[in-house]
Amino acid sequence: MLEKYIYIGRYIKWKSIFKLKEINRLRQQFQRKVRKYPNTIQLPLTYVCNFDCVMCGMKNLSGKKDFTAEELGSILKDPLFSKIEAVGVNGGEPFLKKDFEQCMDAILNELPALKAINIISNGYCTDKILKDLSCLKSKCSAKGVRLNLSISVDGYGKMQDFHRGRKNAFVNADRTCREIMNNKGQYVDGLDVICTITKHNISRINEVDVWSKALNIPVEYNIASLNRRIDNYKKENDFLLFSDWHARRLATEFFYCKYKETGKEKYFALYLYLRTHKRYTECPCMYNDWVTLTPDAQIGYCATRSKNLGSALETSAYELFNGNLKYLKMLKKKYCSECCHYSYRLNYKGLVLMHKDRMKNWFMR
Ligand code: SF4
Ligand code: SF4
Repeated sequence: MLEKYIYIGRYIKWKSIFKLKEINRLRQQFQRKVRKYPNTIQLPLTYVCNFDCVMCGMKNLSGKKDFTAEELGSILKDPLFSKIEAVGVNGGEPFLKKDFEQCMDAILNELPALKAINIISNGYCTDKILKDLSCLKSKCSAKGVRLNLSISVDGYGKMQDFHRGRKNAFVNADRTCREIMNNKGQYVDGLDVICTITKHNISRINEVDVWSKALNIPVEYNIASLNRRIDNYKKENDFLLFSDWHARRLATEFFYCKYKETGKEKYFALYLYLRTHKRYTECPCMYNDWVTLTPDAQIGYCATRSKNLGSALETSAYELFNGNLKYLKMLKKKYCSECCHYSYRLNYKGLVLMHKDRMKNWFMR
């Protein structure tokens, strides 16, 4: 009898805690406003890349001209960037940018509120990456800016080479990771691996987990999706999980297990997305927390679906970003519900579903 009351007491306690969290999330959702000054720049530095990944169409863009470090510096002087706290540097392969060091100097010198730089690299050119990082790390430390590096690894051994379209892609990425881990403080403040899941690598995805655990490097898993920045629309049936029923089922189970293992909202969101093809998270780009600046100086609301709003070399970035809010509204209405990019924090509906799942698991114990 006593056991029964303890059980009911616990049920009421958890139900109430979950309800309060849900109400809080709903309140935050309604109160959220579109910002005038973003806090993060998504900054692909170059269209140049030494890989040809199955989910990427960067090869189609490789002839396009990139901004120079001087041009980047002059763009970043615009008031739009006065409250930027983080810069996500990617590409192409950012370490192939000829004036990489000068671009980093522009970022460090022109952004007064900067707190973190996060670089995504394919990790292929080990020596060049180590040299550039070593120099950048000391500059970042002097300014109190955190430096994080993410290496893209989608498979172990031959799977990575196939997925990334380059021989020795795995051997070199592995070497880069090991060299950095051997003397981490010299190169970065944080190192992690980003693993992008397609219909090709899902059946062997656990090998990435085993490899990264052996190196003691955390992994973030994402789903490959259609993305304007890397021009992959024509390749849609070549990689999307939704184009292969079996792969989609495997990935759904994988993300549910990841959610159970880590408790992360992100993984529950991706599990829901694969089940329903619907988004259950907020996106920082929906509220202008983030701004995208492309290598040809175009401003966008996000890298995934936003059109180019105009060149920041010709018009004030602030005007482009804040003068196109009607288009932002249309973008959200048309594309966001089926996009899985930047899925970190569940919205109210997603949180309710996650709590239901927790209660169900609790009862099944
Ligand atoms: S996904 Fe990244 S590494 Fe691969 S081809 Fe595209 S830009 Fe290069
Ligand atoms: S299309 Fe995707 S990345 Fe762009 S604002 Fe919408 S949810 Fe965010």
